[in-house]
Amino acid sequence: MTVYHAECAWLADGPAANVLVEVDGGRFTAVTPGVSPPAGATRLAGLTLPGLANAHSHAFHRALRGRTQARGTFWSWRDTMYAIAALLTPDSYRALARAVFAEMALAGVTCVGEFHYLHHDSDGTRYADPNEMSAALVEAAAEAGIRITLLDACYLTSTVDGKPLAGVQRRFGDGDAVRWAERVSAFTPPGHARVGAAVHSVRAVPAEQIPVVVEWADNRGAPLHVHLSEQRAENAACLAHHRRTPTELLADAGALGPRTAAVHATHLSDSDRTELGDTDTAVCLCPTTERDLADGIGPARALADAGSPLCLGSDSHAVIDIFEEARAVEMDERLRTERRGHFSATELVHAATAAGHAALGWGDAGTIAVGRRADLVTVRLDTARTAGTGPHGAIFAATAADVAHVIVDGRTVVQDGQHAHLDVPRALKDAIT
Ligand SMILES: [Zn+2]
Repeated sequence: MTVYHAECAWLADGPAANVLVEVDGGRFTAVTPGVSPPAGATRLAGLTLPGLANAHSHAFHRALRGRTQARGTFWSWRDTMYAIAALLTPDSYRALARAVFAEMALAGVTCVGEFHYLHHDSDGTRYADPNEMSAALVEAAAEAGIRITLLDACYLTSTVDGKPLAGVQRRFGDGDAVRWAERVSAFTPPGHARVGAAVHSVRAVPAEQIPVVVEWADNRGAPLHVHLSEQRAENAACLAHHRRTPTELLADAGALGPRTAAVHATHLSDSDRTELGDTDTAVCLCPTTERDLADGIGPARALADAGSPLCLGSDSHAVIDIFEEARAVEMDERLRTERRGHFSATELVHAATAAGHAALGWGDAGTIAVGRRADLVTVRLDTARTAGTGPHGAIFAATAADVAHVIVDGRTVVQDGQHAHLDVPRALKDAIT
């Protein structure tokens, strides 16, 4: 058993001082606020949060950071992204993903939702092991010390009216949803990993194929994620071809529900928001990507009020900082409404922790409570950025650079701001050439 004493810990009902945390077998066995540190306890100075969940990631997009920000459109960014996707092999992707997931660990991420569509060889043929890329990503997460939900994306067409995949997109496709399901079903993840399903988007999966993906997820009780209405052009194309919004199309396909997370959900009608909320569909906001790609500002408060749990993702990894994602949810609402005070610190922490883990199928993580997975993320409150902020203020002030210690399933992955066994900047530099 390991015993920690947190100067301040964010428990299920908010911050508490002097919290004794006992861990055994990767789970919390006792959580006791208001006690003095016993001899032998590991002291956690600062604010200790539950594990942060990065609910939407495309690991290889990290290679675009700094190379696409200055100019261009969403679509020119996508061309650059495709150029990188064309080059990756299972070995090079494993090395890149290991470095990216380790960067996440340094930022306090204990679980990532990897929305994975780079399935096949460069000409679209299957590898000898058709899930070799999946295995590379899952191994990368293990080497970085974090859990992963591999959201295996069905990706079949290049346009909403069914044009075939071309060029690098051929690496993404399985032909049809039945063949996608056969491939995904053959992959057995190890203990730190789970497999979920993804419909890449209403552009990339024809309407009649979506129920096959939904059924696969339903049969396993697995998460189902889908990019939804990130760009107005997607809405326009869907309306023109299907005479329905993407949300309406997904609802008709049976794809919405409490195990589903809609990623972005930026451009929605009033009835779309009601549909998502009424079906308890989660929404994964990715504010740093949405602003980088000029997507727009999603209706976060209205979605939460409609009933959709909110979670967070760093998506394209222009930034990997869940604190920045969390406070952006509030700050973007302020910019849009010219009013302050839409989300409490408690709501933002919940989105970053328990809600994100739940959306990734880890309902037993994201809360510091007896029986839950022993994830702890300690943020220094004595840095130039955080000094004087206090626990409630930290979510509005802290950055990934203020994360001191990260414990995942009871194992120390980051100590004093350093990864336990990886030189992360060097690994990133070596992997991105
Ligand atoms: Zn995405």
